[in-house]
Amino acid sequence: MLYGKWRPKGFAEVVGQDHIVRTLKNALATGRIAHAYLFSGPRGTGKTTTARILARAVNCSALQNGEPCNQCESCRAILSGSALDLIEMDAASNRGIDDVRELREKIAYAPSGLARKVYLLDEVHMLTEGAFNALLKTLEEPPPHAIFILATTDLHKVPATIISRCQRYDFHRVPNEAIVRRLAFICEQEGCTVPQEGLHAIAVQSRGGLRDAITILEQVIARYGNAPTVDDVRAALGQVSDARVGGLVRALLESHLAAALDIARSVADDGIDIARFTRSAVDLVRDLLAAVLRDSAASNDDELLAVARSRADAVPLLASALAELARADFRLDPASPVPLEVACASVILGPPRAALPVAAAPAAVPGQASEGGRRPARQPSPPPADPGPMSREEKFARELYEHCKIINPALAMWLNGSFDVLQMDGDELVLGFQRKMPMEKVDTACRPMVEEQAAAILGRPVRLRVQLVEATKQANREPRRGHLAEAAKKMGARPIGKDS
Ligand SMILES: [Zn+2]
Repeated sequence: MLYGKWRPKGFAEVVGQDHIVRTLKNALATGRIAHAYLFSGPRGTGKTTTARILARAVNCSALQNGEPCNQCESCRAILSGSALDLIEMDAASNRGIDDVRELREKIAYAPSGLARKVYLLDEVHMLTEGAFNALLKTLEEPPPHAIFILATTDLHKVPATIISRCQRYDFHRVPNEAIVRRLAFICEQEGCTVPQEGLHAIAVQSRGGLRDAITILEQVIARYGNAPTVDDVRAALGQVSDARVGGLVRALLESHLAAALDIARSVADDGIDIARFTRSAVDLVRDLLAAVLRDSAASNDDELLAVARSRADAVPLLASALAELARADFRLDPASPVPLEVACASVILGPPRAALPVAAAPAAVPGQASEGGRRPARQPSPPPADPGPMSREEKFARELYEHCKIINPALAMWLNGSFDVLQMDGDELVLGFQRKMPMEKVDTACRPMVEEQAAAILGRPVRLRVQLVEATKQANREPRRGHLAEAAKKMGARPIGKDS
C-alpha cells in the first residue's frame, strides 16, 4: 500500500499543513506540551499522520528541533505498532459512555513503557453526549502522564466545552501543487513515470485529500503499469479526455454562446456521458479560477488561462461559470444536453428571466435560429416568484450578490435582498439599506469584496458608500410584470457585463 509506505515519518514530510507543523515543532522544541490537542479538517489531510508523529515526539528520548528521531526505543516501538501506551480509538465504533469510562479507568495507570500515554481518538464527533461528558471530566483533570489527541472531520459536532479544553489545530485541504509534488516524489521513489498533467488530474480529483490522491495513483499504476499516459490517468479517473471540454470553457470565456451550444450538442450526439463531461468542465473552470485568483502561472491549460486573463471580468465570469455548470442537473434525463445548454446560456446571457414570451425564446440564442426549434426545452421553466424584468440597478444588485456569494457565502449573506442600489454611475457606488446591521457589515467586513466585485461587473473601479434609507423605498418596489414590449426589447443576445 503506497499510502502506508509513504506516510510521513516526521513533521517536515507532512504535506500542505505548514502552519500546524511549525507551531507544533516550536512548542515541542521548547518543551511546551499540552494535555489535549484537537485536530480538525477534511478527510485525508494528515490528521492521524500528524497525531502519530506527535505521539512519537512527546515520547522521543532524542528529540531534534521538535522532530522525533525515529531511532530511539520509544520511536521504534510506536513505529512498529508494539507500543502499548499509544492507544488509538475510533470513536465511530466506540462511541458510548462505557467506552469512554473504560478509557478513563485505563488512564489512571501509569504508562508501561513510554514516558507518556497518548490517546488518539479519531472521529471524536461521533461520541454520544454521555461519552462526551465523561471525556470532558478527564480533560478537566488529566493525569500528568496522559496526552489526548482528538481528531475530527466535523468540528461543529464537537461540544464547545470539549473544544475549549484542547489546543486546536485546523487542517486545510492540501493545495493541488503540493499534492502533485508529493505524488511526483512517490513516483520517483517507486520508479514510475506519470506525466505532470496526469498527476494534476489526480490532485484535482482528490479535492485536497492527499490520502485519496495517493490511493488513486496506486490504482492507476496497478491498472496501467509504471508509465501510464495522461489518457490512462483520465480513464482511471472516469474523466473525459476530450478537447471539447477546453473548447466549451473557451466559448464561455469568449461569450460565444453558439459555439458553446454546438459543443454541448455534439457531445450529446456522440453518446458521451454529458454529466461527466460537465464535471470535467467544472474542474477546468475551477483550475482556471484558482490560477487567475492566485495570479499563478501554473495551470492545466496555459492557452485558456491567457484567454481568461485577457478579460477584465475574468474572476466573476469564471465564478459564474463554476456556479452555473455545477448547478446543471442531469438526473432527469442523463442523455439530454439541455441542462448544460441552460448553464452556458446563463453564464453568457445572465440568469434566465421569467415572463418572457416563449415564442421569442430562440432569438435569444445567436446562430441557432435556423434549427427550427430543435431544442425547445432550452427555455428553462421560470421560477414561480420571479419579479419579472429587472431594472438595471436590480440586475446589478442581483449580480453583485451572486458574485459575492461565490467569493464568500458567509459575508455575502449581508447583501441578500437587503439593499437598493441608489447610485452606480460615476466612481461611487451608493447602496441604501433599511437596517443598520447589514449596512454596517457591508460597510466594513464586506467592503473589499463588494468593491472588487462591483468593479469587475462594472468594468471600472468604484468606491462603496452606504446609507440608511426609508422603509418606503423597498416597500414600493413592486414586481414589474407584463412589460412584454420592454421584455422583447431585452431579448437581444447581449452578453451581460459587456457594452452593448
Ligand atoms: Zn526517538
